[in-house]
Amino acid sequence: MSISHIEHIGIAVKSIDEAIKYYEQVLGLKCYNIEEVKDQKVKTAFFKVGQTKIELLESTDPEGPIGKFLEKKGEGIHHIAFAVKGIEDQLKQSESKGVQLIDKAPRKGAEGLDIAFLHPKSTFGVLTEFCEDKKLK
Ligand code: ZN
Repeated sequence: MSISHIEHIGIAVKSIDEAIKYYEQVLGLKCYNIEEVKDQKVKTAFFKVGQTKIELLESTDPEGPIGKFLEKKGEGIHHIAFAVKGIEDQLKQSESKGVQLIDKAPRKGAEGLDIAFLHPKSTFGVLTEFCEDKKLK
């Protein structure tokens, strides 16, 4: 495995606008990007905390993954994302070690990153994302 750091923590919220107020006014962080990812039916908002980011996720469709998560579990931590090198290889390695993949191949996520998810059934209950910024190469 070639994991360098925790790229971000994804947090599902009902309202990004309301949640941003908490992160900015209480924690003193600054939202530097708001972006809709149509593919995943979410609106995202990002904050930097050192090398790691907080990614707020608001559903744009109750049938989307965040819509369903909020319905079942309510607001809270949705996933943890590791920055990896060679995402395709990392996925293959994980699969060869018996991990169930949600994405067999990377797709485009927010901020132009290549992302792929591992199934929480295989990762002790934590929806796990790999992401790679190929612009860094
Ligand atoms: Zn994410």
